[in-house]
Amino acid sequence: MNILVINAGSSSLKFQLYDMTDESVLAKGKVERIGMESAILSYEPAGKPEVREVREILEHTTAIRKVLDILVHKEFGVLKSASEIQAVGHRVVHGGESFSSSVLIGDEVKREIRRLFDLAPLHNPAHMLGIQAVEANMPDIPQAVVFDTAFHQTMPPFAYLYPIPMVLYKKHKIRRYGFHGTSHAYVSERAAAFLGKPLKELKLVTCHIGNGASCAAVMEGRSVDTSMGLTPLEGLMMGTRSGDIDPAIVPFAMSKEDLTLAEVNSMLNKHSGLLAISGLSSDMREITEAREAGDRNAALAFDMYEYRLRKFIGSYAAAMNGIDAIVFTAGVGENSAALRAAVCRNLSFLGVKLDDAANEARSSEERAITTPDSPVASLVIPTNEELVIARDTHQLILNRDHVV
Ligand code: ADP
Repeated sequence: MNILVINAGSSSLKFQLYDMTDESVLAKGKVERIGMESAILSYEPAGKPEVREVREILEHTTAIRKVLDILVHKEFGVLKSASEIQAVGHRVVHGGESFSSSVLIGDEVKREIRRLFDLAPLHNPAHMLGIQAVEANMPDIPQAVVFDTAFHQTMPPFAYLYPIPMVLYKKHKIRRYGFHGTSHAYVSERAAAFLGKPLKELKLVTCHIGNGASCAAVMEGRSVDTSMGLTPLEGLMMGTRSGDIDPAIVPFAMSKEDLTLAEVNSMLNKHSGLLAISGLSSDMREITEAREAGDRNAALAFDMYEYRLRKFIGSYAAAMNGIDAIVFTAGVGENSAALRAAVCRNLSFLGVKLDDAANEARSSEERAITTPDSPVASLVIPTNEELVIARDTHQLILNRDHVV
């Protein structure tokens, strides 16, 4: 079965085409600057040269049509016809309290995703555009949605509620949801396989640290806490997001700096984090280089980022009454040996014994960066959210066909 995985943003659309007989990627790519005359389609077919086209793509329906066109292109294509795609799986950021697993799309699911627009105004409307664009181009194809929040629906109420008046939860569903769930679930499973132990017997802290960053406490394979909350702003310090701050800063800064709600929202989401403290960049590569070259603000940004991450790991060890392993994933987690070293060295009290050579080794493989006798293992596990979406979609189709 061939499955097309789509991650639709407001002006971009990423795609990967999987052959589920061996889970190989037949092609992948993205369309950027949707809505502009000079939109960019980048396309990487397996075993063939990459293609990059600049052309007018004004909306998502056209973007999907261009993707289908190139997938069946005489020269660059990997399929003879679009009918060789049997299903489409979409990433959807917010599933609220309604979805604790992936589902096939029907009218009720679409209504619910729309009802959740309020909770994820930057993401869910864009995902809906992607879903509708597929419907317009492939009216009969089954589509599934895989939610970033679903894995964290196992959090207990004492972890997901905020200590604020209950009316806000009851009326408006203001609570902690968590994100990056697909990634936390995937790396947890891989960590258990790597350690050769059943997931049911493990207490893990998974750290998904990319541009956005979150960590999760995963006990017996279930998320029991995670650092992001109602929105992806809560928790860890990130590239441009503040993470946790005193909420009283919001009205205080608004009055002192004469900011509107939109301005303070933008400040905390787009102009904070590594970027604000370093005054240089939101990119951990540049921060690390500048720090090594003696830039004090970059060093401060790095230290704050590491300190806040380490405190979360420590708090999750308390939340689960111990940990068996820490898992690093996503852009920073997979690539920044400096950050991993700083975190692990300062967690020796928990039983983390860093293996410097293993940590420094350049590899894209799953690996341990602690010594074999380390009581708590630290692992680097490359994430693969697209594969999870393809697998969930595949399983939903197989189950549906089984029921029919
Ligand atoms: P996103 O959250 O957008 O999916 P990624 O998971 O791809 O992001 O992570 C992107 C981030 O990873 C970059 O901003 C960069 O800071 C970081 N990164 C990538 N490579 C390295 C590296 N070699 N060293 C340190 N940081 C890196």
